Amino acid sequence: MLIGVLALQGAFREHQYILDKCGVSTRQIRKPSELDGIDALVIPGGESTTISKLINSFNLMKPIKDLANQGMPIFGTCAGLIMLAKHIRNSQQETIALIDIEVERNAYGRQVDSFETDLDIPVLGEEPYRAIFIRAPYITEVSKGVNVLARCVNKIVCVSQGRFLVTAFHPELTNDLRMHRYFIENIVK
Ligand code: GLN
Repeated sequence: MLIGVLALQGAFREHQYILDKCGVSTRQIRKPSELDGIDALVIPGGESTTISKLINSFNLMKPIKDLANQGMPIFGTCAGLIMLAKHIRNSQQETIALIDIEVERNAYGRQVDSFETDLDIPVLGEEPYRAIFIRAPYITEVSKGVNVLARCVNKIVCVSQGRFLVTAFHPELTNDLRMHRYFIENIVK
């Protein structure tokens, strides 16, 4: 299995590190030809306005959308979640627009814009999942067909829809492999 990691900006090396620990090969993606032959794509956290601009200037918007529509699985974390959402509250910012959700950027406000907390994520088993939130979004609306996998207090922070999985937090910044394994074993395969 070969997983592409969008490497325009943000925490792409950390995703490669975790995927490597899961025994999966990775490839940094910066140009359309590098998408050839990958089994899935990861869109990391970072700054979604920057990632959006870079996706356009590297001519990656259409090829990623086309591959996603042909069934390529995608895992987006934090800014990656924002990039996959069809709607961003109070914003016209362009996204790849693949998941039927609305998100609010920087939703946790300034004073608590970074925090860690234990989440209950039933699909990962009973043990609590230590989640790291950094100027994180949360999901404000989900359409039918979207599976809510985790909430933080009562805000939705992890969902899947078909072959797409997103988290508002950063699984690549922990030593817990369960979220990446879930993607590999339940969404990609
Ligand atoms: N606040 C960033 C954004 O809106 C996301 C932060 C992150 O990816 N850690 O794009």
